[in-house]
Order: sequence, then structure tokens, then C-alpha cells
Amino acid sequence: MSVIQELHRQLTGKERSATEITQAYLDRIAALEPRLHSFLTITGDRALEQAAAIDKKIAAGEPLGPLEGIPIALKDNLCTQGVKTTCASRILENFIPPYESTVTQKLQQAGTISLGKTNLDEFAMGSSTENSAFGSTANPWAIDRVPGGSSGGSAAAVAAGECAVALGSDTGGSIRQPASFCGVVGLKPTYGLVSRYGLVAYASSLDQIGPLATTVTDAAILLGAIAGHDPQDATSLKAAVPNYTQYLKPSLEGIRIGVIQETLGDGLSAPVATAMDLALKELENLGATLHPISCPRFAYGLPTYYIIAPSEASANLARYDGVNYGYRDDTANSLLDMYTKTRAQGFGPEVKRRIMIGTYALSAGYYDAYYLRAQKVRTLIKEDFETAFQEVDVLVCPTSPTTAFKAGEKTADPLSMYLSDLMTIPVNLAGLPGLSLPCGFDSEGLPIGLQLIGNALREDVLFHVAYAYEQATPWHSKQPEGLS
Ligand code: GLN
Repeated sequence: MSVIQELHRQLTGKERSATEITQAYLDRIAALEPRLHSFLTITGDRALEQAAAIDKKIAAGEPLGPLEGIPIALKDNLCTQGVKTTCASRILENFIPPYESTVTQKLQQAGTISLGKTNLDEFAMGSSTENSAFGSTANPWAIDRVPGGSSGGSAAAVAAGECAVALGSDTGGSIRQPASFCGVVGLKPTYGLVSRYGLVAYASSLDQIGPLATTVTDAAILLGAIAGHDPQDATSLKAAVPNYTQYLKPSLEGIRIGVIQETLGDGLSAPVATAMDLALKELENLGATLHPISCPRFAYGLPTYYIIAPSEASANLARYDGVNYGYRDDTANSLLDMYTKTRAQGFGPEVKRRIMIGTYALSAGYYDAYYLRAQKVRTLIKEDFETAFQEVDVLVCPTSPTTAFKAGEKTADPLSMYLSDLMTIPVNLAGLPGLSLPCGFDSEGLPIGLQLIGNALREDVLFHVAYAYEQATPWHSKQPEGLS
């Protein structure tokens, strides 16, 4: 049984109250946070109030929805009315949104209990959660390792059992890479399937919100609750949202799986390569057929992304000028001086680096050479996927070329940090859904992730393949030791 299903059973069977369950998670958070720092804000009082309301419903004999009373954690770039939303940035350190994001509103309506807001790389820019202005997060599997990023707080919280499930956001891999590093399931949905209203924008044409969970079933339940058309988001798709749990089947008979050849060569660490081999054999055992697939433009994803994402970021982050909200420098003696000082003090080094790259790439003299060219390459990458999906139902590759690296190992070298998203970025550029799930451990006991990539709106196939693989393998049932 998944965590959501088990908690639902306990609630409806009156084995434990919502208050008891919530208190147990809050106690675990209190015990683990000094070591992990997954959370930036913990909303214990609110959570217990929400739990009391659920308990009233149960006492009155009212039927309980599948997510009612389920404790969740939210990445701190999702606007929550009345609760600080910092994006792990000094510039939003005291920002309390006057409105609620669509996804968190949907989850409130579904009866989930929010435990708090999780740590991230500042404005979701990073791959290790070390770019947070409020301190980094540790990997529950090894305290001296990073949890991945930028949704490192959410992934660590799920892996450590500080919440039942969590939400993250993914612009170039920020749900899947931390899921891989922390040994949990993470899904980046098709672009437009989940509303971005109230998600603080990083790179709007790439950002998507998605679930992090310990099982495929929980990820499927959570996606069902947050997906769907939203008139508040102009890029939101008018697609029907099925009950994704209907696709969770154990056999892969008739499923064609494409293995992206370009992802299996040099650069892959030995344990990841071995785990991939074994995973492919397992998928075949389950009835799927394997097909070598070439995506020749896959490798251009990284340079393309580092033009497009910073360009969009430089435009999106122009709004933090100290005038409307957020931090303002009070010592300045002119408007320009105030803008300059506010931004110089409010943003961290990685955010500044990207604003500068983006501003440069969009400037009149360089627009054609960089931004326009990157958009053309983006189309070519998309074409590679389109060709592939004429032959296969799903593509597989590692989520990340390595397991979780040591804290501090890559902070001085942004390029080597960028490389950890080599395999996830093309999926965002093409707007496709991608799911990472545990597929083994290296010799140090660090989790390895398998990435499944689907055609647009084919989350059903991803859940099907992931579920069958999960049921046939032991990886998801292992938990980090030495925490409690
Ligand atoms: N690590 C990538 C970056 O630094 C992706 C981040 C993300 O998906 N938000 O931009």
C-alpha cells in the first residue's frame, strides 16, 4: 500500500486521527530538521487546525476523499496566502503573498494538510539546493551529500518521511534530479497540464509543477489532484484529467521502450551504467520490447537551455526592484541607486549570473546569434523526440549521470553543476512529461534514478511502466538508515 492509501485506511478505520497523524509528522520534522533543513517555514499550528477540521468530518460520519487528512510539503516558490513565500531569496525574505497558487488551492480543497514550505535553490536556479540564501539541505541518505535541486527540500522531506508527499517545480530537472538523488519518485508533467498560476516564475516556457512521492501510486494520485485547465494561466491546456491510478498495471506486454543511445556512453558513472543495464533487463522481463533510439540533438539541450532559461529569467526577475514588494535598500539617495542596491543585495551570485547571461543574450546585437538560434535548436530537439515517438511508447535513460555528490564539491564550478541536468533538460525544452524512479544503489548506498520520458500528455504510459517496474523491484521499499 502507498503512503496516501495507508493513511487513508488508518483515518477511515479510525485507527489514528488526522490530528495524531499530523502531530507525528510534525514531531519527525522537529527531530530531523537540525540535520536535514528541508523546510524554510513550518506551519504547525495551521496544520493542526486543518487536521482538527478533518477529524470533525470523520466524527460526523462524513465520507473522506482520498487526500483528506494527508500531510504534504510545498516548495517555497509556490504562493501561499498568508504564509511566507521566499523562493529561498533575500529579496523575498519577508514576502507574504496576498493570494494562493492554483495547485495549493486545489490541494486545500482536496483536504490535504500543509506542513510547511521547503527549501530550494534561490528562484529554482541550481541542482543542489546549495544556492538557497537560507542554508543548504542535506541528503537523508548521507548527510554530507546534496539532495539535488532545485526541489531538494521537497525531495529530502519525502525521503526522510517528514511528509507523506510533496510538490516541486521543474524547469530543467528540478523535480527529477532531486528525486533521483533522494531515492523517491518525481514527475515533471507535460507543459501546460498543471497550472503555473502562483508559481513564482523562473523560465515560463519551461516551468512545470509536479509531485514527489515514495511510490508511483502516490505520484499518480497527487498529479490527478493538481492537474487540469486553469483560466488564470494562459498556457494551461484544455486536457481532460483522467484518474491516473487506473493505469497502474503490473504487465508491460505490448509496450515498446526506446533506449536513448546518446545517454549511455561516456560520462555515465559506472554504478549508474550498471543499474541502467539491470533496469532494461527487468523491463524486458516484464514483457516490454526494447528498441535502440537515437536522439542526435539531445546533447545540445544543455547549451540551448542555458540561453533560453536565463533569458526568460532576466525578464521575469526584472520585477524585483524594491518598489512593489520584497526587500528594499533604504540607504539609497536616488531611484536608480535604490534599484541597483536592492538588487545587488537581494539576489545571490547564481541568480545574478543568470540575469547577466540572459540580458546579454537578449540584447539587440546578440539576439539573433544566441536567443533566436537557441529557439531553433529547441525545435530540432523536439523533432528528435517526435521521430522517436513514432516508433516507441516511452523513452528511458538515466535521470542523472551520477549519484548525489558531496556538499561543496561543485559550488565553485557552475559548469560542472550544470552538467548534472544533462539528461533532464531536453525533456523541458520539448514540453514532454518525464518521471524519475528509484532503480538501484551505488556501493555507498546512494540511490540511482531511472528516467522515463513520454509523449505529450502520455503521463498514463509513464505511470504504467513505472508502476510495473516498481512492483517488480525492491528499490522503493528501502529507506534511509541512521536518521531516527
Ligand atoms: N538545475 C537546473 C538549473 O539550474 C534546473 C533547475 C530547475 O529545473 N528549476 O536551472
